[in-house]
Amino acid sequence: MTRTLKLDGIAFGGDYNPEQWPREVWEEDVRLMRRAGVNFITVSVFSWPLLEPEEGRFDFGWLDDVIELLHSNGIAVDLATATATPPAWLIRKFPEILPVTADGTHLEFGSRQAYCFSSPIFREYALRLTRAMAERYGQHPAVRLWHVSNEYGDHVSRCWCAASAEHFRGWLRAKYTSIGALNEAWGTSCWGQHYLDFEAIEPPRDSTGPINSTQRLDFERFSSDAMLELFTAEVAVLREVTPELPVTTNFMSILHDLDYFAFADAEDIVTDDAYPDPADPRAHIDASLNYALMRGAKDGAPWLLLEQSASAVSWRDVNVPKAPGVMRLDSYQALAHGADGVMYFQWRAAKFGPEKFHAAILGHRGEASRTFQECSALGAELKGLGALKGSRVVADVAMLLDWDSKWALAAPDSLPSNRLSWIGQARDWHRATFNLGVTVDLVRAGADWARYKVLMVPNLYLATPALAARLEAFAEAGGTVVVGAFSGVVDQNDHVYDGGAPGPLRPLLGVEVDEVWPLPDGDTGHIMMDGARHGFHTVSEWLDAADAQTVASYCGGELDGRPAVTVRRQGDGAAWYVSGCLADDGLRTLVRRILDESGVPVRTGAGPEIEVVVRRGVESSFTFVLNRSAVAVPVSLPDGADVLVGDSRQVSARGVLVVRHEHEAIVRVAADSAQLQAV
Ligand SMILES: [Zn+2]
Repeated sequence: MTRTLKLDGIAFGGDYNPEQWPREVWEEDVRLMRRAGVNFITVSVFSWPLLEPEEGRFDFGWLDDVIELLHSNGIAVDLATATATPPAWLIRKFPEILPVTADGTHLEFGSRQAYCFSSPIFREYALRLTRAMAERYGQHPAVRLWHVSNEYGDHVSRCWCAASAEHFRGWLRAKYTSIGALNEAWGTSCWGQHYLDFEAIEPPRDSTGPINSTQRLDFERFSSDAMLELFTAEVAVLREVTPELPVTTNFMSILHDLDYFAFADAEDIVTDDAYPDPADPRAHIDASLNYALMRGAKDGAPWLLLEQSASAVSWRDVNVPKAPGVMRLDSYQALAHGADGVMYFQWRAAKFGPEKFHAAILGHRGEASRTFQECSALGAELKGLGALKGSRVVADVAMLLDWDSKWALAAPDSLPSNRLSWIGQARDWHRATFNLGVTVDLVRAGADWARYKVLMVPNLYLATPALAARLEAFAEAGGTVVVGAFSGVVDQNDHVYDGGAPGPLRPLLGVEVDEVWPLPDGDTGHIMMDGARHGFHTVSEWLDAADAQTVASYCGGELDGRPAVTVRRQGDGAAWYVSGCLADDGLRTLVRRILDESGVPVRTGAGPEIEVVVRRGVESSFTFVLNRSAVAVPVSLPDGADVLVGDSRQVSARGVLVVRHEHEAIVRVAADSAQLQAV
């Protein structure tokens, strides 16, 4: 059954915590919500102790009133199941619910998310509350979306308690069936780790030295699965009681710990909480990659930005506010990347607690606050953008994300370098593409890649033969595959492939890696490509390119003259291998060449401060131009274009242009790159 969010126009609103305010403030809240153009509000995220003040006694009166008040003001509700934080009475009755860290420390009550996701007790109580919420509010006309828990894994995504250990053993039994199979998969003949039975296995707690890397990898997989199990248990209750209502849980951009593809399969709508750091000049580029995941998680379907900050956050060491215009730009960036809504944490700035200095739509100054003025202006603008809904981002380039490989590459103290990470590589490659004005989707191993011209694989340390075969088929069919260093090294058990890297990717890439050659911290090396020298960092490889053409070679150092970047033409396509971590200039040059050869148009006038993204609807397309620079950027619009936001001749400094046009028409941006500051 397809369950969609039934809401008029673009979703606009945020988290609302009326339980932190006296009732007379609620009336003012809804009055100001209407003024700000709010149409969607999240409630009851942390309300468990108020909804169930003592075991088995529910008190819904106050929430009834809140929902009724919102409804009578025409505001729809994203209703949380309120299971994000257990109440103190539950913890005191069952202290074993509290999570335990790898070194055996019991984490106390006093913050949020103080529960073990494997705890059967927690699950029982959480599901009882979920059922009570569903039965109470499932038929209420204001309720349009279930918001399960909150930011899974934000504080606790791994737990080493006794309940987790038991859960882990059960997961291992189901996976391996026999202890012999586990011993073989885990390579327990190394360091005398042999197990006689599953009962002897514990989660990888702090030990005397490096942990068995396959045990660790399985614990990563298990922990994500265990959290998913808790999520799907809540979803099952909601589906049973309210089969028509869509379900979500809010993601936290690209989170290392949880396989969001698996979570997305269990929900109806992908939602994201995004907090780009205003102090980081590259934050918007990384946000673009995060949003690529949000649409990639459901094969391009629109998603919701469920949380962002109206200005500063409260949880960094230094919390820099968003300068005037930046919140608006950030909001349009999410819309450009396929969001059908812009929401905030939170509606009204708190008076107390750890988030009292977290910005909100309604700041401490109330209506006079800058955030309220800026958010209200945006709310009014978004009223005219309902036509965007349902349209999908157009991209020729995709990037592969595989959690198994990502986790395996993160094993400390057992790799050639602890410095190589999927996210580091992905951000570098994505930034090079972004700076050429090209939009990138993030896709999973099992996705349909046929609509893309280029598939980037920044790292695939763990590569299965099945995935290697899919990559080969993509190239055979005319696609371009680009694979980064240290890929195809191990199988699904984290065992090195016979013959070494790139293992099953060898036929695709036509290269063999003899030895990985990481660089000491801070060192850079060089490659020579088309007569120009470019830097690389972190890692290089001693490579033999027996069945591939060398495009760039190492220059200087021990690998002088050896292949660094290769390409193997295959069928109608090509497979590139980039054996070192190229620095920005070389990466940009290489990516430009690959895109040119693959027929992907590079956008003139693009750069780190200008982003152009196209969403395609049924009848027309929408081009977004986001200008983060301090100068206005001239644009030229196609005939018949309809300007929805902005000016038809230029995009002002820190400004936005949204244009509706015929599908194949192009909005041209004429930025003078000399004026724009590189980041
Ligand atoms: Zn636990």
